[in-house]
Amino acid sequence: MEEVNGIIYVVATPVGNLGDITYRAVDILKKVDFIICEDTRVTKILLDHYNIIKKFVVINAKNESIVIDRIIERILTGESCALVSDAGTPCISDPGIRFVNRAIHNGLQVNGIPGPNAAVLALSISGLPTYSFVFEGFLPQKKGRQKKLKQLAEEERTLVLYESTYRIKKLLQELNEYMPQRQIVVARELTKKFEETWRGTASEILTGYEDKISKGEFVVIVAPLNWKERDPEDHSEPY
Ligand code: SAM
Repeated sequence: MEEVNGIIYVVATPVGNLGDITYRAVDILKKVDFIICEDTRVTKILLDHYNIIKKFVVINAKNESIVIDRIIERILTGESCALVSDAGTPCISDPGIRFVNRAIHNGLQVNGIPGPNAAVLALSISGLPTYSFVFEGFLPQKKGRQKKLKQLAEEERTLVLYESTYRIKKLLQELNEYMPQRQIVVARELTKKFEETWRGTASEILTGYEDKISKGEFVVIVAPLNWKERDPEDHSEPY
């Protein structure tokens, strides 16, 4: 039996399909004293699915400076908690890292419960080189966006981007402008009912999937500069 007292667990939860959670994650969510989450409505759907009843503390950009110290005090007295986000692995393009950082500075034990992450999942089905890759998450929305795109156009590793429903079309148009030759894989609605993977240049994807382009959540994987599809018999270098 895993003893949880005085421990903070960073728990990965599904990115769509509620079945994608580990036995250990469910066990930890049941055992801890309380759960730190982004949006109680989202986390409650997951907990109801697994018949878990638990108290919540919400952490977000607005309240974290006040809430973090209170949580740390509770853990120092021996309570335990799980940090979850709305989807996937907390602290990866999601809130929580300031809390984890403060906990470490207070000498607290932080354990991770591994599980889904949209970026790694998309990479694993992309068929593009994964030997080395760079995760950029969401590009800056305004300031610095063009500069970043120019810099990424020279990137020699596989590139992983997150994008929302509202901006995916704009992102593909920009990729078409800055890296028109590059092979791209768009993973849409991973693990969900309307899951799809689109492949081609940005221009091919924009024309081929025009009707679906503004629906869903997206991970965009971009092949490295000068990458060419390899002969399947070529095992000369790691992929
Ligand atoms: N922490 C999460 C993780 O581990 O993947 C990422 C959270 S971030 C706020 C949300 C973004 O992740 C979405 O805008 C999308 O780019 C990507 N994402 C999350 N779930 C996804 C899914 N089911 N299919 C495709 N992309 C997804």
